[in-house]
Amino acid sequence: MAIAVSIVIHRNSFLEFFSTGLYLIAMPAKHIFLLLITQLLCVANAVADEYILQRQQMIAEIEDDVEITSKYLKKQSFDASVMQAMQEVPRHEFVPPGRRTEAYENRPLPIGHGQTISQPYIVALMTDLLAPEPGQSVLEIGTGSGYQAAVLSKLVARVYSIEIIEPLGEVTSGLFKKLGYNNIETRIADGYDGWPQHAPFDSIVVTAAISHIPPPLVKQLKKGGRMVIPVGTQFQTQYLTLVQKDMQGKVTSRQILPVYFVPFTGGH
Ligand code: SAH
Repeated sequence: MAIAVSIVIHRNSFLEFFSTGLYLIAMPAKHIFLLLITQLLCVANAVADEYILQRQQMIAEIEDDVEITSKYLKKQSFDASVMQAMQEVPRHEFVPPGRRTEAYENRPLPIGHGQTISQPYIVALMTDLLAPEPGQSVLEIGTGSGYQAAVLSKLVARVYSIEIIEPLGEVTSGLFKKLGYNNIETRIADGYDGWPQHAPFDSIVVTAAISHIPPPLVKQLKKGGRMVIPVGTQFQTQYLTLVQKDMQGKVTSRQILPVYFVPFTGGH
């Protein structure tokens, strides 16, 4: 069936509406439908491409920061698999909708409830320090936006993530489902006690600052395992700390670099 219709492909203004307009008179309805779908797909692709470009820019900024901090890190670059995961995870999905234009800036952003999504460089650094391997199981304390867990989920078999703020944990667990991160399991609880049912873990990442290393977490770390944790309070310098348990079960720790994280809360 043919219908009489005018479709105008226009961009910004009413002037363009008439000057560059394309009039399609008496076009079959299914063609018009296809044309509209094609136009919509073009717009969607342009937006997706824009995010890919922004992510590449973010990767370049992380690489610059690694160089600047190389004397602390004792390395010149992060593992290629870590950078690949950073390139793949759509950070704009993990920030509030009103913050999407800032999603790929190399800085933390507010995510509500007084919490923040960590700076991309810090997420890459913490991930690299964990030295993730396929097949491993990782515990995260402080799900927050879910971004750190999403990056880890690309590199290991299973991520267990605990969040203490119920509404935040619920929203993020819904987001993991929506985006298909099926190897992340979440729980609302005080993470100080870890997650004994799934222990021991190959590695543990804590994304809120605490005055000491929680003994239950050390206990739940496998022999040969690694934990990355910001140690310090809101009022003293915090140090990102790498804790390692050797094959004999001996635990050592090393301060990596000064950082600033939101406080670890709960009843410890
Ligand atoms: N990994 C997060 C960082 C979020 S900020 C991300 O990528 O966005 C740190 C998070 O730790 C906050 O959401 C905070 O609520 C949570 N947190 C603080 N203390 C906690 C505790 N005792 N147990 C579990 N989560 C905690």
